[in-house]
Amino acid sequence: MTHTSSEEPHLLIGVLALQGAYDAHSQSLRKLGATPRLVRLPDDLQGLDGLIMPGGESTTMLRFLEQRGFFETLKSFVHDTPTFGTCAGVILLAKDVTHPAQKSLGALDVTVERNAYGRQIDSTILQTESSLPGGPLEMVFIRAPRIIHTGGNVKTLATRGGDPVLIREGHLLAATFHPELGHDIRVHQFFLDMVKQHKAGAL
Ligand code: GLN
Repeated sequence: MTHTSSEEPHLLIGVLALQGAYDAHSQSLRKLGATPRLVRLPDDLQGLDGLIMPGGESTTMLRFLEQRGFFETLKSFVHDTPTFGTCAGVILLAKDVTHPAQKSLGALDVTVERNAYGRQIDSTILQTESSLPGGPLEMVFIRAPRIIHTGGNVKTLATRGGDPVLIREGHLLAATFHPELGHDIRVHQFFLDMVKQHKAGAL
C-alpha cells in the first residue's frame, strides 16, 4: 500500500559540498525529514527546493566554483531559490566582503568583514536569545565573519555584542555561526519553513 496521507511537502535540499562542514548539515536536514543532496556540480542544483552553503574556507570554495564554471549558475540560483549560508557561506552570499575584499555572489544585502572576531583559538560557543521560539540558541563561532552593515530589507534574528549573527532577507537566511554543529535544529527548521513558504508561493 502506498503512503499518501502526508500533507507536508517533501523537501529536497542541496548542500554545497565543495569543501567545509557540509556533512553535519545533511544530518540536521535528515533529522527534520528533508532529503539532502550534495551539490558538487552545476547540474546538481536542478530540481532543488533550497540550498545550504556551509562553513569552511570561502576563498577555497570560490576557487572551486570558478574552476568548475559554477559561479554564474550558482549566482542565478541563489537569486530566486531559498538559500541558507552559514559562516563562509555568508561570505559567499554577501554583496560586499572586506578584510580582505573578495568576489562574492552579491545576493544578500550585507557587508561582511572576514575573520573579524580573532584567530582560530578565539572561536567560541555562546548561548543567546534570538527571535526563534524555544529559549536561548547555542551558537558555535569558528573564525566567524562579522556583519558590519545590513541593507534596509534585512531582518536581524539574533545578535552577538550588538552585531547581527542570524539574519534573513526574503528567501535568504544567513548565520555567521554553525547551527549544524550543535544539537539545536531550530535554525534548520526555520529555514525549512521558509522553503515550504516559497514552495507554496507565499515568499
Ligand atoms: N574564516 C572563514 C572564511 O573567511 C570562514 C570560517 C567558517 O566558515 N567557519 O572563509
